[in-house]
Amino acid sequence: SLAGKTALITGSTSGIGLGIAQAMAAAGANVVLNGLGDTAEIEKIRLGLEKDHGIRALYHGADMTKPEQIRDMCEKSIGVFGAIDILVNNAGIQHVSPIDEFPEDKWNAIIAINLNSAFHTTKACLPGMKKKGWGRVINIASAHGLVASPFKSAYIAAKHGLVGMTKTIALETATDNITCNAICPGYVLTPLVQNQIKDQAKVHNLPESEVVEKIMLTPQPTKKFVEVEQLGALSVFLCSDAASNITGTSLPVDGGWTAR
Ligand code: NAD
Repeated sequence: SLAGKTALITGSTSGIGLGIAQAMAAAGANVVLNGLGDTAEIEKIRLGLEKDHGIRALYHGADMTKPEQIRDMCEKSIGVFGAIDILVNNAGIQHVSPIDEFPEDKWNAIIAINLNSAFHTTKACLPGMKKKGWGRVINIASAHGLVASPFKSAYIAAKHGLVGMTKTIALETATDNITCNAICPGYVLTPLVQNQIKDQAKVHNLPESEVVEKIMLTPQPTKKFVEVEQLGALSVFLCSDAASNITGTSLPVDGGWTAR
């Protein structure tokens, strides 16, 4: 059980981050939610987690492109809960375009949200973990942290970077009872992927169902989307004592994608 521990999950108002927040709360951890979205909707999620699991849930709206807001989120969370024991770097965005047409603002935003934010959160949270002599850092990378596809240069650069940073953090914390691992999902049917399905349908002039079958799930040998709950369960496992010697790894949950 993660009772008495606190998990901060960036980008947890939707999709994978929300699923991981739910799994952490179900395991007994207090959670700090973060992400964009409708205030009333987010408050409903926060209250729901508290009611369903008897834990405390906090929300902080830090924009992951703003280092000072990220520091404020970590400081306030540590102020309320005493420490952030579990840090899940999950916030991320995507933009699909050939590199010679890639908008510079999109490139910068992807590197800031998908990579730099994990540096700022980790920097802010590690001292507290070291002081307590226990910690877990989980970076939500991607199959695209291990292999590439065309038209996703910024995302793939950021995710490969996150995988590299994961290894370094693991080495630097190896004797502190802290582990740092990356989870590398294949396609998960979240709003991020639903938007890509819409875009691809337009580009290829295909119905969305055909985009899913012929394009999205082509690299995924199981031909099934990865479930948010599966990523939540793996995250909770990485927080267990059984996983205390798993550090510096990048764990694909990709239906066989990177086995090819
Ligand atoms: P999503 O769009 O459902 O959720 C993204 C979350 O990040 C949301 O809570 C959003 O509010 C938040 N966010 C976006 N910009 C932000 C900002 N500037 N500041 C703070 N929060 C911000 O997407 P998802 O599919 O759940 O993706 C979550 C993570 O998983 C991302 O890092 C993504 O790259 C990764 N991932 C997703 C898939 C997939 O197939 N969906 C596959 C591999 C990896």
